[in-house]
Amino acid sequence: MSDELPYIENEEGEFAVPCQIKIAEDCAQLGEFCETKEDARDWVENECWICSGEGYFCVECNNQVLRNIGNLQTKKMN
Ligand SMILES: [Zn+2]
Repeated sequence: MSDELPYIENEEGEFAVPCQIKIAEDCAQLGEFCETKEDARDWVENECWICSGEGYFCVECNNQVLRNIGNLQTKKMN
């Protein structure tokens, strides 16, 4: 796991992991701000965010991706 993942830093110098894709209407947008990048990453992993290799995206967006794939497959069948 590299440290090149995107992080958002707030005014207190805390870090949060942003949702990488933000496609769901109910997207979480951002993980919780933590004192260290490691803690921020632990937080999103505890929330079951999905690691894409380049970043994380939230469960809501993962569900949206799965719905989109389902829609595509439905279109192909028609
Ligand atoms: Zn999201």
